[in-house]
Amino acid sequence: MTNKEVLDFEDFDELKIAAYKVALIWKGFEFKANWLDGYLNKYANGSLASIYKNVILSYKLYLAGETTEEDGKKALEKHEEKFNKLDGMLNNIFLFQDTMRKAFLERKMKFGSVSFVCPICGGEAYGSKIETPTNPAHKTTLRAGCQGCGFIVMN
Ligand SMILES: [Zn+2]
Repeated sequence: MTNKEVLDFEDFDELKIAAYKVALIWKGFEFKANWLDGYLNKYANGSLASIYKNVILSYKLYLAGETTEEDGKKALEKHEEKFNKLDGMLNNIFLFQDTMRKAFLERKMKFGSVSFVCPICGGEAYGSKIETPTNPAHKTTLRAGCQGCGFIVMN
């Protein structure tokens, strides 16, 4: 268990606005590195946290006059590309698990293996749920994937 907060943004614009506000506050602390570390430390590490940090750093360069507006915009576009890829990936995980859940429901199965049509590529996907009551991490072990696009889900 972790008591760190998880970052959550609706879209890249929301992330940008939040990052800009942080950069402005950080400016008040003369862009001292330990202030930003302290601020980011309350969030759980992950791909989104690293994108968030990079956007804050890009705004810092701009606010500190260390980069031009044009270069700053280019940097933000790159961060946005990464964000959109990540966002798509998280959506795919949700979509895939939801399709698998429905496949189990349709067959009135709680455990076992099912095959279903992959919601991402339309290929042949499979999913299995095994009861593992002695596993301390999860009572149900989940394995799923798609032979078409190679997507894999496991807990
Ligand atoms: Zn697929």
